[in-house]
Amino acid sequence: MAGRRSCMSAAMETQSQSRLLASVRGFVRSLVEDICNGRSPSVALDRYRTFCSDPFGNCACSFDTPFAKEFISIGRQPQAAHRLAVLLRVLSIIQLLLQQNKHASKRDIFYMDPALFVDQAVVDHIINDICVLLRCSRHHLNVVIFDSLSLLVMGWLRFKESDRTISCIKNPNTEHPIPVCLEDVEDMVSVAQYILVVEKETVFQRLANDKFCDRNRCIVITGRGYPDVPTRRFLRHLVEHLRLPVYGLVDSDPYGFDILTTYRFGSMQMAYDAKLMRVPEMRWLGVLPSDFEEFNLPDRCLLNLTPEDKRKAEAMLSRCYLIKDAPQWRTELEMMLHKGVKFEIEALSAISFAFLSEVYIPTKIERGKHI
Ligand SMILES: [Zn+2]
Repeated sequence: MAGRRSCMSAAMETQSQSRLLASVRGFVRSLVEDICNGRSPSVALDRYRTFCSDPFGNCACSFDTPFAKEFISIGRQPQAAHRLAVLLRVLSIIQLLLQQNKHASKRDIFYMDPALFVDQAVVDHIINDICVLLRCSRHHLNVVIFDSLSLLVMGWLRFKESDRTISCIKNPNTEHPIPVCLEDVEDMVSVAQYILVVEKETVFQRLANDKFCDRNRCIVITGRGYPDVPTRRFLRHLVEHLRLPVYGLVDSDPYGFDILTTYRFGSMQMAYDAKLMRVPEMRWLGVLPSDFEEFNLPDRCLLNLTPEDKRKAEAMLSRCYLIKDAPQWRTELEMMLHKGVKFEIEALSAISFAFLSEVYIPTKIERGKHI
């Protein structure tokens, strides 16, 4: 059964690679035709966004439709020639990766022509453009992240990665790195009742030390701050395949809030791919600005919002998806800004060291105290 599925996924992969290689050839042919016919080469790119600042939320941001087109036109824009040169160079590298069925990181690609690319950000940006151009995700281009240390998981979960069985269930409080290539994951089995996503590794470790998963049938993951692509794809895969509720635990500050929105709504940088990575099911478990009074936390745990925190919070308040889809999240953010203070998850330790794992999380989940 597993063997047959592997064969099927290999066949689908080959099909997708052939389609992409044909698209690359078609794109280059159209540029050459432009030049042969005396026209300035021009490339049209769809532009996507995960949010805007429409105060009424009457927009199409969450419908995965492009909101505009951008044109790279030699002759009209001074930077266009360089941008097109970078686009073609990166495309030629990706073509080679697909033809040879090899994988490379964005950093590998940068070092294949640093004189042309100048900066890593240039390569990163062009790879996003290529995904839009070829209507695919980054992993379809065989561009991957090799640093699997970014994501940790523990809990009531077992799956196969290539031919290896990763059995978190054997010792649910032991952390495991997650495979970078989701396509290698299969036969996922779980007896968990929910998934808990924690912002910080320190909190993940505290839960491991407290043997949280012994008493709670759950899966805990951390993306260590802003989640990268493998983290978000893995979480999406878990939610889709296991059909479990998913809760977020972040600091009560503008960064924690932004991390939560990245999980739920996707990031602006990769808005073209948000539909494959966002987790609309994500509920905000804590720590909520309103928790401070609810749990009578001592004032010494509070920190004032910095001017940068305030600017970030104000900017986030105008995001259309909060108005449309998460008004309760917006109310909590408004409260944070109004009070002008923030606090970390660890502030709960002021009550007792075990409060987070023994009382706060289980009670909130049991009583449905999440938004
Ligand atoms: Zn919008």
